[in-house]
Amino acid sequence: MRILLVEDEPEMAEALRTALKRYDIVTDHVRTLADAIEAATEDVHGAILLDRQLPDGDGLDLVPRLRAKGLGIPVIVLTARGDLADRVAGLNTGADDYLAKPFAIEELLARLRAILRRPADVVTDIMQAGRLSYDFDNRVATVGSEALSLPRRELLVLETLLRRIGRTVQRASLEQAVYSFDDEIQSNALDTHVSRLRRKLADADAGLEIHAIRGIGYLLKLAR
Ligand code: CA
Repeated sequence: MRILLVEDEPEMAEALRTALKRYDIVTDHVRTLADAIEAATEDVHGAILLDRQLPDGDGLDLVPRLRAKGLGIPVIVLTARGDLADRVAGLNTGADDYLAKPFAIEELLARLRAILRRPADVVTDIMQAGRLSYDFDNRVATVGSEALSLPRRELLVLETLLRRIGRTVQRASLEQAVYSFDDEIQSNALDTHVSRLRRKLADADAGLEIHAIRGIGYLLKLAR
């Protein structure tokens, strides 16, 4: 696999390049937004790893420019700014995932595998799982032709679980996705959102099940 790394910090870039090489991932490295646009337009990369704070601008500006050219290359935003507002901003521009520095290389590889399972050439970011279709751009979940009515927090739980379908998502990750930092987190609130979501998926016959993994978190998988 060949990926494009957009990162201006030499040490970070070198560390990533070396780490990815061990997994047979070839890395093309650029340092600026301008070079990133040029390199990405060649459309030869399986994914883009994108730093935000670049010498000539915000890395996020790359994403709409690529999408406008009809390039659906998956983008993982790498940033030191890990708070919820930044994450939401990243995903709203059409980035596929978000990874806050520092991160373990295994985490990056897992995210790469997850996004590469999605078709790379579709501009609208729609994921099909079981009978459920989820539109990440418009945040709409549909089963057949029926849109599911999901309040914001149930929607965020669903999104987070869908992005890691087949793998257990830690409770803390779900809480982080669902609550902004100023929100008061009540101890059982997450479970309530998950229970409601689970019931709605079952009622709609979505072909998906949410399993509680005791002491760890939740796992979304296809119903048998
Ligand atoms: Ca930077």
